[in-house]
Amino acid sequence: MNETWTALLYLVAAVCFIIALKGLSSPKSARRGNVIGAAGALVAVLVVFAHERPDRLVLVLLAIAIGGAIGTVAARRVAMTAMPQMVALFNGVGGAAGALVALLELAEGTGDGDMGGVAHLAVTAFTILIGSITFSGSVLTFAKLQELVTGRPMIFPGMRWVAVAAVAGSLATGIWVTFGGSVVGAVLLAVLTLGLGLLLVLPVGGADVPIVISLLNAFSGITVAASGYVLSNVLLIVAGTLVGASGTLLTKMMADAMGRSLVNIMFGAFAGGSTLGSTAESNRPVRSAGPQDVAILLAYARKVIVAPGYGLAVAQAQHTLRDLADELERRGIEVVYAIHPVAGRMPGHMNVLLAEADVPYEKLKEMVEVNPEFRTTDVALVVGANDVVNPAAHAVPGSPIYGMPILDVEHAESIVFLKRSMRPGFAGIENELLFDPKTTLLFGDAKDSLGKLVAAVKGL
Ligand code: NDP
Repeated sequence: MNETWTALLYLVAAVCFIIALKGLSSPKSARRGNVIGAAGALVAVLVVFAHERPDRLVLVLLAIAIGGAIGTVAARRVAMTAMPQMVALFNGVGGAAGALVALLELAEGTGDGDMGGVAHLAVTAFTILIGSITFSGSVLTFAKLQELVTGRPMIFPGMRWVAVAAVAGSLATGIWVTFGGSVVGAVLLAVLTLGLGLLLVLPVGGADVPIVISLLNAFSGITVAASGYVLSNVLLIVAGTLVGASGTLLTKMMADAMGRSLVNIMFGAFAGGSTLGSTAESNRPVRSAGPQDVAILLAYARKVIVAPGYGLAVAQAQHTLRDLADELERRGIEVVYAIHPVAGRMPGHMNVLLAEADVPYEKLKEMVEVNPEFRTTDVALVVGANDVVNPAAHAVPGSPIYGMPILDVEHAESIVFLKRSMRPGFAGIENELLFDPKTTLLFGDAKDSLGKLVAAVKGL
């Protein structure tokens, strides 16, 4: 394939990636965006192999088949609630690939660019640095979210100094690689920065872990862009930059939605702050009721706002929730859904779940839009949500979620919580709203409880 065709097809792939990102910005067009992005990636892969190394096509196809099979099985099996872990692994693999490419290019000295040039060696060192941090950091975030290790911030005595030494060592070996082109230096750099990745993620805990995944996603994009420079491949630079930029924006938006600064998230634990409270269950008295009583409350309301959260995803109760909403609407009751930007365990989690149950998109209202409506709402139905409706975010300075914007369900005339126990949410802090006189708790798995509510409302 000649240069002109290669350049043209790279351009097509790059345009596909940009259109894909645009498509992903709305649930309506997200599926189409995904398909366009995947098509762009396929074009890119085919062109790379037809143009660069046709002699290694069989080996490469074998690698694609193995990776593709593992990826397909993993993506099909993963539960929606485990998506952040999966994304963490993907980021890690991206980072590792970039770092390995840079190491091999340095070892073989076969880069298209001038491997001897200081600028080129500096980018090679940078790729190894950021790629290794991304890999080890992502593996640790995966382990935290998968509960293979504690989700709490982990710090040990003298950690700050170990981190300073690791940063200094990484900089020194980076300079060695840049000015000496040393392969030994590059391996040492990789080892040091693998350690640095762990040190970066160890002190992060609780609700901040998914934000770090988004940050590492941005890092993986930067690694890919840098490796594109090492390989003189424009498409890698474009694709990596898109991932880096969107990952950075997403990280910022998630941090803002939780009222936290990135510096505080990354270094808060060093300063003694924790992002997790206690996970103990409270035994203070609450008002709980059966499905029949809650059904009456709902069936005689004029307006119900549903506040869904992580528990809805765990219970896979989105379809039953839709059934309940249909039943209420049949009785002339207005039902809307209040979507908090960080409800669930990843951005857009609730939108995806509710779209799966064909809830009309117009019924999903963003937090800012819906909050004034709670004052004129008869029942706020909180389904498997906790932190995102916890008034401690307004009222308790020092609380891990203080400053986080929340859904103002407290202003509704009555509040119903569907949850299984008195256990707190992800941030591990008690929610005063559970003890409020206007709150009723319906204990049980959200899908079971919603099923009972549908039957009870039908029977009224
Ligand atoms: P929470 O984790 O605060 O609460 C989930 C609730 O669901 C719990 O009260 C739990 O109570 C209940 N629950 C769990 N399983 C079930 C079930 N099967 N049936 C019924 N209820 C169930 O979730 P929120 O969505 O309110 O908050 C999200 C949290 O995640 C926030 O802390 C947020 O900051 C954090 N986060 C989210 C990000 C995002 O992008 N979405 C990113 C970063 C952090 P019980 O165990 O008693 O049933």
